[in-house]
Amino acid sequence: LRKIVVIGEILVEIMADDRGEGFLTPIALTGPFPSGAPAIFVDQCARLGQPAAIVSAIGNDDFGRLNLERLKADGVDTSAIYIDDDRPTGTAFVRYRHDGRRDFVFNIAHAACGKLHRGDATDRVLASADHIHVMGSSLSSPEFSGFVVSSAQSVKKRGGTVSFDPNMRKEILNANGIKEAMASVLAVTDLYLPSDEELFLLGDSSDIDAAVTQLLSGGISAVVHKRGVKGATYYDSNRSHTVSAYPVVEVDPTGAGDCFGATFATMWLRGTDPETALRLAAAAGALAVTRRGPMEGASDMSALTDLINTSKSAS
Ligand code: ATP
Repeated sequence: LRKIVVIGEILVEIMADDRGEGFLTPIALTGPFPSGAPAIFVDQCARLGQPAAIVSAIGNDDFGRLNLERLKADGVDTSAIYIDDDRPTGTAFVRYRHDGRRDFVFNIAHAACGKLHRGDATDRVLASADHIHVMGSSLSSPEFSGFVVSSAQSVKKRGGTVSFDPNMRKEILNANGIKEAMASVLAVTDLYLPSDEELFLLGDSSDIDAAVTQLLSGGISAVVHKRGVKGATYYDSNRSHTVSAYPVVEVDPTGAGDCFGATFATMWLRGTDPETALRLAAAAGALAVTRRGPMEGASDMSALTDLINTSKSAS
């Protein structure tokens, strides 16, 4: 099996119990939960039995240990997670509004995962990568962005493959040099996983077909457009295929895109046909929203096939 490597943040998430706006008054919170989009992605890959590693850093604190233990227990190669004695593990506080939008308070830039630690372990893990998955969040600082782009380029140069989820939050989109970094990543991307309007981030069109054609003619071999409860669509130069979202009760949507993307990328690397890969990915995205906590919804293969079979018999 081919090894997937992700570079990016490990955090804990602490969430408000109620819905409302912001954190300006004392409110009840639940957490910590292991989190960080790259960490959720790599955890989901490992849950499916794929060799998977993350290059990241945590503090020498309980938030870090919580993540490390979870990732190890789920089978992630944690050898390139640096333990920083001087900086704490990153945190994200989140509160949902009534309309589903989220307010965040992040501590990433000044946390352990906000600093690049390059050592032998990082080099060893990157040298073992058959596939690298890039997330937009790791392109927001020039230090990381240069490292991530050159790592993707070298995996590609030696015959490996690259997937890319722009995962753009408004706060990141204005970061210096982010568009250039995204263009560099897209130039080596095989599998592109945008959600909603991210499909149009770099193109000059807001028409879906035109945007997809432009991406596929630029060297990308497959595009999977994630559309939340509306489902997802796969495109390559020969065909497209759409799946609906599986009907589930949504408890916490954070992490759906990461579990979906990790499952699709894993199946794609195994040579699974796109229809099956898309169905399994949609099942992973659906199961991800049924659990409170961003990484709690990562699933193993039997949970994915159970959901697919139950939905089949219900329809
Ligand atoms: P996020 O950044 O919040 O993790 P995303 O925007 O990258 O998510 P989404 O499109 O929200 O990704 O979710 C990915 C896939 O997961 C969807 O295409 C869909 O198949 C599935 N999914 C997401 N939300 C739901 C839901 N409420 N019910 C069922 N399936 C869902």
